[in-house]
Amino acid sequence: MKRVYNFSAGPSVLPESVLRRAADEMLDYQGSGQSVMEMSHRSKIYEGIIGSAESLLREVMGIPSNYKVLFLQGGASSQFAMVPMNLMNKNHKADFVVTGQWATKAQKEASRYGEAHIVASSKDKTFSYIPDLDPAAFSKDADYFHICMNNTIYGTRFTKLPETGDVPLVADISSCILSEPIDVSKFGLLYAGAQKNMGPAGLTVVIVREDLIGNAMDITPTMFNYQIHADNGSMYNTPPCYAIYICMLVLDWIKNEIGGLEKMKEINEHKAGILYDFLDQSSLFKGTVVKKDRSIMNVPFVTGSDELDAKFVKEATAADFVNLKGHRSVGGMRASIYNAMPVEGVEKLVEFMRDFEKKNG
Ligand SMILES: *Cc1c(COP(=O)(O)O)cnc(C)c1O
Repeated sequence: MKRVYNFSAGPSVLPESVLRRAADEMLDYQGSGQSVMEMSHRSKIYEGIIGSAESLLREVMGIPSNYKVLFLQGGASSQFAMVPMNLMNKNHKADFVVTGQWATKAQKEASRYGEAHIVASSKDKTFSYIPDLDPAAFSKDADYFHICMNNTIYGTRFTKLPETGDVPLVADISSCILSEPIDVSKFGLLYAGAQKNMGPAGLTVVIVREDLIGNAMDITPTMFNYQIHADNGSMYNTPPCYAIYICMLVLDWIKNEIGGLEKMKEINEHKAGILYDFLDQSSLFKGTVVKKDRSIMNVPFVTGSDELDAKFVKEATAADFVNLKGHRSVGGMRASIYNAMPVEGVEKLVEFMRDFEKKNG
């Protein structure tokens, strides 16, 4: 068996111990004689799984009791519509910071349901920075304020939250959830597709303050109404059972093998530091993002030559460093170094880059 170093932006690498445990439990989950994929979602045994997933997430993230945790489907992309349908319900207005493709999609989708006001954008420089925010430009009567916390494609992240006062802050945390501690109480709603840092594709996690639930627009499809899912413990219909199970294993790994999110953050900062330190002194490779806004999850870089970029990606792939090609919209390279990427993977990648630089610099 061989395992490569997988730098995919998503779906992405999972902890090896999680995959092993899932393999061990594949045919017979804890004496039930069934795979988790085969069991009724209404069974006692499955209730135990979804219950553990929720309580582990609450514990690991420190989610206050006045927040609901929802296990949904449809990806983060469905939340681009679900959030406005449920939250744009008073003044039909929301504020957006446009820091990349995902933030743009969130803003565009919301504009179908109300006024989606752009407070600031970093489009002028290919989203290579997080714009300064002037609270005077915020809409005082917005129903919510939306940011994309970590910009997966461009490799930037918010390190300081906008001061939105009474306006609920909503964040897409698809590519940074569980990467470091986050003060959930500062947000009205958080959402994330699982396939970056929590598990397999097919599961979307929503963490929403209870008072924001229950005022969905009349046109809201039943399946898009947070209230329906909250009232039914994410079991209004069949949930993504197996993805929730893997997510539970990932959370257990963070809690018991890593030692929680403070520790996770330390490891992630160490990994990102290894790569950024190399990029900052390299004569061939360079990072594409303003230093202060650098993501610790997604690290884009270029050589300055499309030809050399392509050569690098090809040779890296042959050496089992896979999925390093940058997003199709920006080119170059991108190393996604999510929680499950071991330190050793980043060290070896840097070694490989140093060697490539010697031969091609
Ligand atoms: C991947 C990603 C999305 C899209 O997620 P889907 O689950 O494919 O809909 C949205 N936002 C961010 C920040 C992402 O990284």
